Amino acid sequence: MVGDRPAHVGSSPGDRRQNSEKDDDELEIRISGIPVRGVEIDERTRCVHYRSGLDIVAIKFNCCQTYYSCFYCHQAEAGHSAGIWPRAQFAEKAVLCGACGAELTIRQYMECRAVCPGCGSAFNPRCDSHYPLYFET
Ligand SMILES: [Zn+2]
Ligand SMILES: [Zn+2]
Ligand SMILES: [Zn+2]
Repeated sequence: MVGDRPAHVGSSPGDRRQNSEKDDDELEIRISGIPVRGVEIDERTRCVHYRSGLDIVAIKFNCCQTYYSCFYCHQAEAGHSAGIWPRAQFAEKAVLCGACGAELTIRQYMECRAVCPGCGSAFNPRCDSHYPLYFET
């Protein structure tokens, strides 16, 4: 994954394609049999919003118990606002490695130092700035 282009984070979601053009093939994949949803999701759970070689983590949302590639994918597709995980539920498996399919608990993910405990793949270390979108902090 080294040498992949950095993600162009920060552009507004959906500015590359209109939402009216829906293709179900690009909205859901399966990793180890677990469905993961996302806008233009690829086989490693990268989406239209986060596309670097490090953006291989999917997050399960507490509100609908469904894995999405990222917060913006949930916002675009779920039809409801995202619920964050309370601290009391940090032992729940809610993070999926797109490289090996390992499910991590929220606590494992927070303590993994951006390296998958299952396969050693590097995760995007900048994701910790997004924790408040997903987890109680
Ligand atoms: Zn939801
Ligand atoms: Zn996304
Ligand atoms: Zn992994």
